[in-house]
Amino acid sequence: MGKLTGFKDVVRKAEPYRDPMLRLVDYDELYSEHDEAHLHSQSSRCMDCGVPFCQSETGCPVDNLIPEWNDLVYKGRWQDAIHRLHKTNNFPEFTGRVCPAPCEGACVLGINTPAVTIKNIENAIIDRAFEEGWVTARLPRERTGKKVAVVGSGPAGLAAAAQLNQMGHLVTVYERDDRIGGLLMYGIPNMKLGKDVVERRVQILREEGVVFVTQTDIGGQGKDALSLQDLRQQYDAVLLATGATRARDLPVPGRDLKGIHLAMEFLKASTKSLLDSNLQDGNYISAKDKKVIVIGGGDTGTDCIGTALRHGCSSVVNFELMSAAPAERAEDNPWPQWPRIMRVDYGHEESKARFGEDPRNYDILTKEFIGDEQGNVKGIRTVNIEWRKQNGDMQFEEIEGSEKIWEADLVMLSMGFTGPENYVLEGVDVVLDERSNYQAEYDKYATSIEGLFAAGDCRRGQSLVVWGINEGRGAAREIDQFLTA
Ligand SMILES: Cc1cc2nc3c(=O)[nH]c(=O)nc-3n(C[C@H](O)[C@H](O)[C@H](O)COP(=O)(O)OP(=O)(O)OC[C@H]3O[C@@H](n4cnc5c(N)ncnc54)[C@H](O)[C@@H]3O)c2cc1C
Ligand code: SF4
Repeated sequence: MGKLTGFKDVVRKAEPYRDPMLRLVDYDELYSEHDEAHLHSQSSRCMDCGVPFCQSETGCPVDNLIPEWNDLVYKGRWQDAIHRLHKTNNFPEFTGRVCPAPCEGACVLGINTPAVTIKNIENAIIDRAFEEGWVTARLPRERTGKKVAVVGSGPAGLAAAAQLNQMGHLVTVYERDDRIGGLLMYGIPNMKLGKDVVERRVQILREEGVVFVTQTDIGGQGKDALSLQDLRQQYDAVLLATGATRARDLPVPGRDLKGIHLAMEFLKASTKSLLDSNLQDGNYISAKDKKVIVIGGGDTGTDCIGTALRHGCSSVVNFELMSAAPAERAEDNPWPQWPRIMRVDYGHEESKARFGEDPRNYDILTKEFIGDEQGNVKGIRTVNIEWRKQNGDMQFEEIEGSEKIWEADLVMLSMGFTGPENYVLEGVDVVLDERSNYQAEYDKYATSIEGLFAAGDCRRGQSLVVWGINEGRGAAREIDQFLTA
């Protein structure tokens, strides 16, 4: 702990995002430049409280050694800080940018005063480390001769590949898309996570010896497809890290109208076209001059709003089925739990800057999509709802007379994901859990088939990048034990 009274002397100030009106004209990252003096003073707020809840159960899922690197940053020992950070987290440049920071919700300072800006400090440590050339390929000292296949190149697959490779195993990552990264590449948009940041890390893994095979759909139908049985025969162990990519749909009347898309169709095509041709090839769903409605919130909904604004939409509205969260923690949501409070994310801030208001509308149920004679969507009919606790469960009732028609010519459905697309299992009898994820106990990651493991969203359901890294690391440990038993 660098400064005994830092937490009393210094007020929390997170690093600002770039000005919303300026960042809306490009797809560059939102973040402003790091300021060393600012980080020095913010890191002094860490109390070294003795029982660091920030790195324990309700805090950081990868158990980052937060008080240690806060202290090192305060003392200007940045190179030591990145060594500490890499001990627990393979990819701090991803979490430092996109993690919702449960650590800050569990920070002891947060009991009666704003938490330490942990996520900013994490991001600054890794950005500085790359700038200084401290992050380089580390080749494993010896090879075991064992071969592991990883299916899927999201954070879970990449973390497992990184760990297994360091243990000396030969790792091949198979990805059906044309670029590596899973939702880091084709889900989270450029402004939140630059794709050069993803590719920089993939290149290091490549130099360390991980082999990446793109455009190969395991269990799929294409000419380059391979089956899971093929992999089981060719490799000593296989890890499924295929994500939870089956989107929840909204089967109300009019769903077939043109102009209604799943959020990921919109986001993926936009990022791919941006990377391939700076949006010149026209291979994306454009929101330019469209009245956009995004149904559903969360990170995906926000990313649709931010992307539609950058395309140049003429308006954007967001429907939320749930009620607005309270401004402060509710009584049943005490510290150190994740605070379920009202947050203003980047897309909401940008929408307010462009159109003068927050796009979110709460307690809204979509009843029907309305079309024109050509079969294009032109509006949505909704009713307002009221939530009540009935028999211990929250249930909603429609409010009579609250019906409303909203104009829309582009609609995105962002209502979460229901589990993995399990065609990969064709011909292999893997047991699924009751939510159709691949059944494998947390911390063991072994499926019902010997030598076949599962980690990340395909095992736990839709989650977070930091949980993907946690599971990838855990699965690598278990696979190593299996291979060396
Ligand atoms: C739009 C969006 C925004 C998000 N924003 C955030 C955020 O800001 N912060 C955060 O923490 N989390 C965010 N998330 C959640 C986070 O991205 C996921 O929890 C995380 O990426 C899951 O990692 P994963 O490795 O398990 O799977 P994924 O990242 O989904 O990767 C799975 C990979 O497997 C590949 N694959 C699937 N099947 C096959 C097959 N048969 N053969 C070959 N390859 C296959 C897929 O193409 C994909 O590349 C967001 C999610 C979405 C959809
Ligand atoms: S990975 Fe997430 S939870 Fe862990 S320290 Fe970083 S921001 Fe906090």
